[in-house]
Amino acid sequence: MSYRVVIAGAGPGGAVLARELAAKGIAVTIYEKGEFSELGHNWSDAVEIAALEAIGIEVPVLKGGRWEGALVKRSGSDEGLFERHAIPRLKLFSPDYSSVKDIAFRMLITDRRALGKMLIQQAAAAGAEIRYGCEALGLLYRERGAGGPGGVDVYGLKYKEAATGDIKETKADIVVESSGYQSTLRRSLPPSTGLAGAFVDADFGLVNREVRVRDPILAKTDFIADHYRYGFHTGYQWSHMHNEARIDIGAGVRPDPANPDPKDLIEEFIARHPSIKPEMVRGGRALCIVGRPLPNFATGGFIVIGDAASTSVPTTGCGVGSALFAGLWAAGVIEEAALESRSDLEKLWEFNKIFYRDHDRGPSLAALSALRIALQDLGHDDLSFLMRREIMDRETLEAAVNGRFVPPGLRTKLSSLLRGLAKPSLLLKLNQVVSTSTKIYRHYKRYPQSWDAAAFEKWSRRAEELFGKEE
Ligand SMILES: Cc1cc2nc3c(=O)[nH]c(=O)nc-3n(C[C@H](O)[C@H](O)[C@H](O)COP(=O)(O)OP(=O)(O)OC[C@H]3O[C@@H](n4cnc5c(N)ncnc54)[C@H](O)[C@@H]3O)c2cc1C
Repeated sequence: MSYRVVIAGAGPGGAVLARELAAKGIAVTIYEKGEFSELGHNWSDAVEIAALEAIGIEVPVLKGGRWEGALVKRSGSDEGLFERHAIPRLKLFSPDYSSVKDIAFRMLITDRRALGKMLIQQAAAAGAEIRYGCEALGLLYRERGAGGPGGVDVYGLKYKEAATGDIKETKADIVVESSGYQSTLRRSLPPSTGLAGAFVDADFGLVNREVRVRDPILAKTDFIADHYRYGFHTGYQWSHMHNEARIDIGAGVRPDPANPDPKDLIEEFIARHPSIKPEMVRGGRALCIVGRPLPNFATGGFIVIGDAASTSVPTTGCGVGSALFAGLWAAGVIEEAALESRSDLEKLWEFNKIFYRDHDRGPSLAALSALRIALQDLGHDDLSFLMRREIMDRETLEAAVNGRFVPPGLRTKLSSLLRGLAKPSLLLKLNQVVSTSTKIYRHYKRYPQSWDAAAFEKWSRRAEELFGKEE
């Protein structure tokens, strides 16, 4: 096939997309700024089991509280993909620890270096070309004289080769941006496309995570539950065991001088647990995108996926699952486009439709982002009250942690009313937020089926109105 796809970024989204396209015989090249050895993160992340299964990874089985399977680590530091300790259920504490809920946790603690290497090796084995040390700088496009996403046709990208310093251009039928939250490519488009906006501070969480060693003797009396302390300082703090000897501790907050540094929140947790030794064995600190997903992911010849499109779960910052699903879904759309030798927006709109209409993911992420914004403004006392009184109940919180928004039924609303009588203004505020989030969820489910400039404009106006109530 003479059809050619280029992808910027070899993260989970770009690697899966390249693997799928190459396996179908489509010529695909990834331009990756970093080197092979730098892919992923130097720690393990909670990754959606459903997404790992969807991309065909052999998911381990649960035996006696541990994962067992070919891809599970045998020691703390080997190349295995998954940490041994299983967390099928997680303790969810209120910020002041006054209540705890036991929730299903549909995640596997996955080594991000191992995942990064595995996915890119699979892409290369399927026939994708990977160009390391090549930083994408901007898109090549032709303007069509119209506003909105129909206003441009992308036909390639500009990139810089680190080895030579040369700036080059490459042409393609479709360019996919999968380069993370810096989203350099979509931001090189004209503002009139609606795709060029930069993310702002409020779209991020500042996250620290540290993997530490535990003293096995002290650990016998120093019990630490796998948990989230949800709503803690506008974000959350957590700990997950990796195995008998290692524990992952982290915290994320809205970047704001009024908030404590997440590193200090980790230190405070460690100070309360004598079994945790001082030295950090892995870990890091970075911004994590938690804003609302872009309302459109395409123009002619261009699709944006993963963090570049802000598709992480806003209430946790977990974005690998969305990036993996987006890689798979984009591959299906591009394969069809290639068979018809097309790359127009009408054809690529199918990706938006899959994300927002065919699956619950898009509407849930949009609704959860409105919920996050409002809940971040509540103090510890109010949040703890809502959790303690079951106004924010187990079902709602379990769904939110696992990336789903569940619109409350009439019974839930009535029982919340009774339980929240002691704080009527708080209850009123929560009701308004939940009602707006529910409207957002339903609005995204009615996303335009096909590309139609007028229909999309009308839909976008209403989306902005709804978000305006929360932002
Ligand atoms: C501290 C922290 C903790 C996290 N914890 C979790 C978690 O527990 N679970 C979870 O699911 N998610 C977690 N995330 C989020 C997760 O890492 C991202 O959502 C996910 O990696 C997004 O995948 P992606 O493919 O969109 O982009 P990325 O993984 O960001 O990959 C982008 C790739 O593009 C490359 N690149 C960047 N710019 C350019 C350019 N101009 N040209 C070429 N290449 C470029 C980068 O080098 C990188 O390889 C966490 C993030 C942070 C920072």
